[in-house]
Amino acid sequence: MKKGVVYPGSFDPLTLGHLDLIKQALTIFDRVIVAVADNSEKKPAFSRKERIQILEEVTDGMPGVEVDYFSGLLVNYLRKKNINVILRGLRAVSDFDYEFQMVLTNRRLAPEVETVFLMPQEDYFFLSSSMVKELAVLGADLSAFVPAKVEKELKKKLGKIK
Ligand code: ADP
Repeated sequence: MKKGVVYPGSFDPLTLGHLDLIKQALTIFDRVIVAVADNSEKKPAFSRKERIQILEEVTDGMPGVEVDYFSGLLVNYLRKKNINVILRGLRAVSDFDYEFQMVLTNRRLAPEVETVFLMPQEDYFFLSSSMVKELAVLGADLSAFVPAKVEKELKKKLGKIK
């Protein structure tokens, strides 16, 4: 039986840390749905459409990866997709508190759903989309942190990132 997982997140923008997690997930799951959260409260630097386009381009040629988005409750999205596993990444200890709350909340809402955590390669342990945006504004070389496509798109955006 094919086993699928939903990897939700802001992906604002996609980093090599996210990509590392997607690749790891493909060794465990047959189908990895990368689901962009349509959360207007977060005021993303990249629109939903832009984030999806970047993900589609970068994951093109990775069999088993699908790119989608969701709004509203994540567990409702999982039910719609008939998938019962959520993938999240654990980096430094700072992720733990929030992720623990999310697991317990989602468990209340949907007891049939499990969350699994994967850890990135150590190179990406402190890497976040927000750090990448700050580095972009400061004019840093981003090639160690994001795919080339993302670096290109970040340069176009520079004036618009606070
Ligand atoms: P969110 O706003 O949902 O946290 P992010 O795009 O920041 O969205 O992160 C999505 C998921 O990817 C989270 O589980 C996060 O822990 C994980 N993640 C982000 N950056 C990395 C990284 N460098 N290595 C591993 N996992 C990461």
